[in-house]
Amino acid sequence: MFQTRVTDSGFPIPPALTEELRPALTARQVRAEAERCLLCGVPEAPAPCVVACPADVDIPAFIESLAGDDPDSAATTVFAANLLSGTCARCCPVEVLCEAGCVLSREARRPIEIGALHRYAADWGLARPPARRAPVSRRDERVAVIGAGPGGLACAGELAASGFAVTVYEARGEPGGLVRRAIAPYRQLNEPLPAETQMIAELGAELRFGHPIESAEALHALEAECEAIVLAVGMGADVTVDYPGDHLPGVWTSLHFIEQVKAGRVTDIGQRVLVIGGGNTAVDVARIAVRLGAGEVTMVYRRGEAQMPAYAHEVAEAKAEGVRLEVLTDALRFLGTDRLTGVELRRTRLQPDGGGRPRPQALEGTEFVMPADTAITAIGQQPRRELLSWVDGLVLRNGLPEVDPASGRTANPKYYAGGDVVNGGDTVVEAVRWGKLIAGAIAQRAERRP
Ligand SMILES: Cc1cc2nc3c(=O)[nH]c(=O)nc-3n(C[C@H](O)[C@H](O)[C@H](O)COP(=O)(O)OP(=O)(O)OC[C@H]3O[C@@H](n4cnc5c(N)ncnc54)[C@H](O)[C@@H]3O)c2cc1C
Repeated sequence: MFQTRVTDSGFPIPPALTEELRPALTARQVRAEAERCLLCGVPEAPAPCVVACPADVDIPAFIESLAGDDPDSAATTVFAANLLSGTCARCCPVEVLCEAGCVLSREARRPIEIGALHRYAADWGLARPPARRAPVSRRDERVAVIGAGPGGLACAGELAASGFAVTVYEARGEPGGLVRRAIAPYRQLNEPLPAETQMIAELGAELRFGHPIESAEALHALEAECEAIVLAVGMGADVTVDYPGDHLPGVWTSLHFIEQVKAGRVTDIGQRVLVIGGGNTAVDVARIAVRLGAGEVTMVYRRGEAQMPAYAHEVAEAKAEGVRLEVLTDALRFLGTDRLTGVELRRTRLQPDGGGRPRPQALEGTEFVMPADTAITAIGQQPRRELLSWVDGLVLRNGLPEVDPASGRTANPKYYAGGDVVNGGDTVVEAVRWGKLIAGAIAQRAERRP
C-alpha cells in the first residue's frame, strides 16, 4: 500500500534494502488467515496472544472483524489500543510476542500471522480517517512530552485523546525517533509514521519539531507551565570504545551507519564487512550489509553464540542470508593508513562470573587480522546524561532514571519517564506500553485532584 523506495531527500535506496521481511497480505489472504484463528480467550482469561502484547491489543477481536470482512471495526480495535499500530505491525518481534503465544503453535501448527493481519487493519484505518479515533472534550491541564519517538507519540496521543493540552518537543525535524533513524529499512523505512503522527495531531496533540530542550533553563520554564513533564527521550549516541584506528574512513558506529543507509547515502561498503557486537542492532547492521551487496559479512562477538543478546530467530535468519559468526573473538584495533584495510582480532574464552553472564577473557597470543573494507561497531547506546542531570531529585541507576513501574513517575513528582530512556533500549511496542501507562497515570492523578 505504501511506496518506500525513495528517501525524503530524493536518494534512491537499493530495492534489496527495502524489500520487506513481512510484506502486506492481499484482502483474500487476510480473510483466509483470519479464518484460521481459533478466537480463543474470554474476558476473565484473555487469549495468550493478548497477554503477550505489551500494547494490550484485543487481537481475537480485530481478527474476528477481519474474518467477517469488517476491516473498519478491525482498524477501530487496533487503534483503540495502539496509536502506532501500523508501525508496530511492521517492526514488532512477533516471533517472541503475540505469535509465540498463539495456541496453534502449542499444537505444532503454524501460528496465525498476527503481525501481517495487524498491518492490514492498521493500514486500512490510516487510509480511511473515519476508522481512526476521535478526540474528546478538552481539559485545562498542560503536559509537555519531550521526544517524539514511539513512546512520546503514544503518550501524547493518549493524553490528547483524554483532553489534555499536550505539546511534544522533538529535537529532530521529524517524528519517529529510532523508528525513523535506526529500524532496518526492510522492516520500515518511514511509512506509515507520517499518517500515524497526523492522527495523533488530529487528536489534539501539538507537535513541535526541530525544538530540542537543550538547557536546564528551558526545562525549568516548562515546569512552570505544565502539570507534568514526560521524558520520552530514548537513549543517546552509540557507546564508543576508542579502538585505535576508529577515525579511519570505512569505520562506522551502528546508528550513524543505519541512519545514513536509510537516507540513501550509503550505497557501496565494499566486499568484506565486519560487524562488532552480538545484539539485535549488530544483526540488523549485518543484514543491511548483505543487502548492500557485501560478499563477506562477519559478526564478531566476544562471548559465545548462546550468550548473544540478539533474538535467536534473527541470528538464524542472518546466518541463512550468509552472515558468518566469529564468536569468542574480540576486536583490538582498526588497521589501515588512509582508510580501513583490516581489523586485528583476538580469541577469548568464557570465565564463569558467580552465576551471572560468563565473562570473556582474552587469550594472549591468539591475535590475528581479518581483512575488511568496512567495520561497524554495534555495542549499545549511551544514556542521555546531560538532560537527565537537569531534573531535580531524579534517581538514576546505571545512568537511567528510576521510575514507579505502575505509573512511570520518577522521584521528582512532576516528571514521568518511559521507553528506552528507562529500560536502556527495548522495542517499539514497549515504548508504546510506557506511553500509554504514563498517559493513564497522569489522567488518573488529574481525576483525583479536587
Ligand atoms: C538499530 C536498532 C534497530 C531496532 N529495531 C527494532 C525493531 O525492529 N523492532 C522494535 O520493536 N524495536 C527496534 N528497536 C528499538 C526501538 O527503536 C526503540 O525501543 C524505540 O524506538 C524506543 O522509543 P522511545 O520513544 O523510547 O525512544 P526513541 O525512539 O529513541 O525516541 C526518542 C526521541 O526523543 C528525542 N529527543 C532526545 N532528546 C531530546 C531533547 N533534549 N529535546 C527534544 N527531543 C529529544 C529524540 O530526537 C528522539 O526522536 C531498534 C533499535 C535500534 C537502535
